[in-house]
Amino acid sequence: MSQKPQGYHLTELPAEPSAVPGCAKCLSLVNARQNARSTGDYSAVSDCNVGLREHHAEAH
Ligand SMILES: [Zn+2]
Repeated sequence: MSQKPQGYHLTELPAEPSAVPGCAKCLSLVNARQNARSTGDYSAVSDCNVGLREHHAEAH
């Protein structure tokens, strides 16, 4: 019998995009994300992650 444990949920955060070394755009987005996190502005944090993913898709 294999049953999934009840009440199981992910505690792991989804992987966040990280800066590509030497890319100023990545760096500025990652800096903005860090600032947003330090002020507790998590909607801005996720905006930065979205921006990073889009930028990664376009530029890297
Ligand atoms: Zn970049």
